[in-house]
Amino acid sequence: MAQAIDIETLCHEKGLRVTEQRRVIARVLSDASDHPDVEALHARAVAVDPGISIATVYRTVRLFEEAGILERHDFGDGRSRYEAAHDTHHDHLIDVESGKVIEFVDPDLEELQRKIAEKLGFRLVDHRMELYGVALSRER
Ligand SMILES: [Zn+2]
Repeated sequence: MAQAIDIETLCHEKGLRVTEQRRVIARVLSDASDHPDVEALHARAVAVDPGISIATVYRTVRLFEEAGILERHDFGDGRSRYEAAHDTHHDHLIDVESGKVIEFVDPDLEELQRKIAEKLGFRLVDHRMELYGVALSRER
């Protein structure tokens, strides 16, 4: 699940030049336990370095995404959200009322998806699963 991943170390491994502003953005991403969009990342980054523009955040997350360091998600509201590309796979459940994102792993589901791919003649190498729900506790 969302363990602290050192984005800056990954940048070095991928041979990306780590400028001071990229370092701040990398730190903010490493510290995030949610799935922030660019605006949220920018707000956190300027708290550390007021000179960081939203354009820089956009460019940096795109660069990190292209390098395979970040994963981009669109949880149905048209906004791109980011998290470290995880070594350990997980899926997401999105609370459609609050926008809260819950991470989960279900071995039965993983197995089922593998079987479906196999039945269709494929070896599964990746998948994305997004569930959208309304909290039962809020339903009347
Ligand atoms: Zn996640």
